[in-house]
Amino acid sequence: MHRDDVDVLVVGAGLAGLTAALSAPGRRITVLCPELPPAEVASALAQGGIAAAVGEGDSPALHAADTLAAGAGACSAAAVDILCAEAVPAIHWLEGQGASFDRTADGRWALHREAAHGRARVLHAGGDATGAALSAALYRAARKVPTIEFRPGCVAVALERHGAAVAGVLALEMPSGRPLRLVARDTVLATGGLGQLYLHTTNPLTACGDGLAMALAAGARCDGLEFVQFHPTALACGDNPTPLITEALRGAGAVLVNAQGERFMLTVHPDAELAPRDVVAREIWRQTQRGHRIYLDARAVLGADASAFPSVRAACVKHGIDARHERIPVVPAAHYHMGGVGVDLVGRSSLERLWACGEVAHTGVHGANRLASNSLLEAVVFGRRLGAALAPSGRQPHGDESSVVPVTGDAQDEGSAISLAVDGRRWVELRRLMWEHLGIARSGAGLESGHAQIVALETGVTADQVRLRGRLRLARAMFASALARHESCGAHYRTDDPGAGARSP
Ligand SMILES: Cc1cc2nc3c(=O)[nH]c(=O)nc-3n(C[C@H](O)[C@H](O)[C@H](O)COP(=O)(O)OP(=O)(O)OC[C@H]3O[C@@H](n4cnc5c(N)ncnc54)[C@H](O)[C@@H]3O)c2cc1C
Repeated sequence: MHRDDVDVLVVGAGLAGLTAALSAPGRRITVLCPELPPAEVASALAQGGIAAAVGEGDSPALHAADTLAAGAGACSAAAVDILCAEAVPAIHWLEGQGASFDRTADGRWALHREAAHGRARVLHAGGDATGAALSAALYRAARKVPTIEFRPGCVAVALERHGAAVAGVLALEMPSGRPLRLVARDTVLATGGLGQLYLHTTNPLTACGDGLAMALAAGARCDGLEFVQFHPTALACGDNPTPLITEALRGAGAVLVNAQGERFMLTVHPDAELAPRDVVAREIWRQTQRGHRIYLDARAVLGADASAFPSVRAACVKHGIDARHERIPVVPAAHYHMGGVGVDLVGRSSLERLWACGEVAHTGVHGANRLASNSLLEAVVFGRRLGAALAPSGRQPHGDESSVVPVTGDAQDEGSAISLAVDGRRWVELRRLMWEHLGIARSGAGLESGHAQIVALETGVTADQVRLRGRLRLARAMFASALARHESCGAHYRTDDPGAGARSP
């Protein structure tokens, strides 16, 4: 098998991976990813923006209070404090890397308000193309750093172990499928989320939970697996991924109505359409259970400014909708995983020499429900902290590398073929089970049934199907976590929890 030895291996070229790579001077970094430039990744799709308490009268403490409230008691207060305190330095750092945030006529950062934020504190870059603008800036910056090398066209399938430590990954080169062993002193997972485990999702096709599945297989501690955020307003068009209709549009005044034209959120929550995401998504789900189609009426917003929200307008036009004159049909879709590889405040996992940042990691900042525009921020704040912690002084020699072995969760014979192929029938079934039983509304019976069906799907998966096996294992672990949490909490809503209504509208 072909083998390369590297210093720091960063798996993933989204905002988190690029930030970590740019923040670790003195180390030689290899960034592994399927495609370059990283366009079809969650970071590049982010429309809403990035939160930071930069406005007059705002403060990290107010930002932290909103973050904690959205997280429904499941946040790590220490991680939230860091996120909010280091937000402004993170924005300055992004500008130093070449990003440019939208400004008002008098030169100040233009600030927007999004759901569950008490203040206007969301910055945009390039209007509703913030993620693409930030990703492009960091990618350009990283290309200029001689110690950062990109290895595109590679998909990681398993972590490598060297005794108790993680020592790189086993990857496959595309399209040949040639296995490649990348032995690293430090391995950073920055592989993003897992929305593609669900039938309906806003996440790109690369967001299959691979990094989390690899960490689980290797025995890393993983936390908060049951907490999945469903975005209330994806375009009801049947595409995969489902185009997102950004929350910022509701922040700007768009309202949700049912087919009868009723603005149903008014009676559900004092903040109506700007209630926390889980509340809005659940109410849309309830309405659809009653047979209603749901629409976002953005005519007043988009009609008033022809240049506003270009990504939303483009997605609508693609599906024959003129959102200046017509209401936009919307559905909820799996959007963000609050859980992930358990890490400390600098991204260190429970396994020696394995690190994680971005959506694949669980720092505890999001608790049971992420506050809008906090995830780009988390990727940058904690990516920077991780990079700084990878100081040259912390390096150790590889040791006897002959004992480096891949961890696929089963005894994977090194010589046996590993395939990128994922059995289509099982994959579709997995996504359906996740949507139906581990979706917006859950019950003990549904979770038990989903868990049992996942176990049945695992039977007979062949040894070469490492990716599918990893995803099924991850799905099983998510069901197990959801079963263990009997009470509703944030995005984890149990219909069989009698207190759910009182605690969460
Ligand atoms: C449509 C959409 C809109 C959003 N809007 C916002 C917003 O406005 N504000 C906000 O804060 N958050 C938003 N989010 C969430 C936010 O974009 C993500 O949480 C964040 O960008 C995650 O960054 P990341 O670097 O961890 O992952 P990603 O950006 O997804 O990058 C993951 C990287 O890992 C690579 N990868 C995955 N698997 C493998 C593998 N097996 N081998 C090698 N490489 C692999 C991918 O190709 C990619 O390069 C949005 C998400 C979506 C989907």
